[in-house]
Amino acid sequence: MSNTVGFVSLGCAKNRVDCEMMMSKVREGGFKLIEDAAMADVAVINTCGFIESAKQESINEILELSKLKEEGKIKKIVVTGCLAQRYNAQIKQLIPEADVVLGLGANGDICDAINKALFGEDIESFPDILNMPLDGKRVQSTQPHYAYLRVADGCDNCCTYCAIPLIRGKFRSRKMENILEEAQRLVNNGVKELNVIAQDTTRYGEDIYSELMLPTLLKELCKIEGLEWVRVLYCYPDRITDELIKVIKEEDKIVKYIDLPLQHCNGEVLKNMNRHGDKESLTALINKLRTEIPDITLRTTLIAGFPGETEEQFTELSQFVSDMKFERLGCFAYSLEEDTKAAVMECQVDEDVKQERARIINEQQAIIMSDNCERYIGKTLDVLVDGYDRYAECYFGRSVLDAPEVDPCVFFTISDRKPKAGDIVKVNITDYLDCDLVGEMEA
Ligand code: SF4
Repeated sequence: MSNTVGFVSLGCAKNRVDCEMMMSKVREGGFKLIEDAAMADVAVINTCGFIESAKQESINEILELSKLKEEGKIKKIVVTGCLAQRYNAQIKQLIPEADVVLGLGANGDICDAINKALFGEDIESFPDILNMPLDGKRVQSTQPHYAYLRVADGCDNCCTYCAIPLIRGKFRSRKMENILEEAQRLVNNGVKELNVIAQDTTRYGEDIYSELMLPTLLKELCKIEGLEWVRVLYCYPDRITDELIKVIKEEDKIVKYIDLPLQHCNGEVLKNMNRHGDKESLTALINKLRTEIPDITLRTTLIAGFPGETEEQFTELSQFVSDMKFERLGCFAYSLEEDTKAAVMECQVDEDVKQERARIINEQQAIIMSDNCERYIGKTLDVLVDGYDRYAECYFGRSVLDAPEVDPCVFFTISDRKPKAGDIVKVNITDYLDCDLVGEMEA
């Protein structure tokens, strides 16, 4: 009887796509995939190594499953993903319970590594990151009606606080024909919503086509029959071009939603982050997006407490958040990451000051978001049904305003017809709870 393999994937959606590709390799290799890694013969922890809290979460997950190995319930522990890539040989020293440690460049060899481990070998493999497969079959781990479509990996922006370029290497686009073929395959499997991702999605194509090709790619995606929604995540402000705005505006299938991490608004702080712009240029960009695409939903991410951030610069950021009223926003306290330029900068801000600043922004945003919900009362929204909530005794799903896993959702009651997960239904919004909209499905 073939051994069972269970995966845990941590971190971002790009890491999840890596995991789905490894799951496909493992299944093709004759192993039986099971949902719960704690019940498997071989547990694979696809780790995140981005910031301290994420690293700790990955280590805890490995140690949890290693306990089951000591109890003889799990045969082998396999560590993959960004923590393995970033700390490579140290992982085995730190966590001797790990039987296999694979860098990202070895994702394609996971089957061979598991087989060798089952024969008693300890495996550590950290080939060049450029060996990391970007194209290939996947076992979808999201709900059947939505999926992530990774169009590139790595990053050349080199923000001074960010370890991703150190982990995932330089920016590499996938060929458009491979992306479109994968998108078609996903839609054939029932996917209605594709979330287009990369570390910098807006840079798509620049390296292999010598020009920004995201607008062209999006238009091609919209030609796919059966695909209902296309959502663009991880955009970089400098590369929000007129052509991109035009395509998002004119293509019905592209939801009027942009995820645009800005990180800060103060020119000096942005410069120290090796990012560009200032409050005036970013305000102009936001106003332009809202003028060109009036019902657009803007999501952003901010960092509070970056080295050298003064009280005045933080006040400016807080004022920017009040003025811009982003529909979706997450603010994180700066996390010092070794080997990054910001880690050795002077004027590191005290931890409690960083946390307090992030708390202030997130509290501001909670009020902005619930006020924003008011706009939708009396309106009808298309909702992609995710399922039935037994606790709330009603259905739930996401509207075009809500990206998967990071945004609020819509709870709704029905009159007669029972919707299925994956259906797109019309919901009349009657109320909201915190930041979740509440409504009734049209008959
Ligand atoms: S653009 Fe994003 S992934 Fe790239 S270096 Fe900056 S923060 Fe990191």
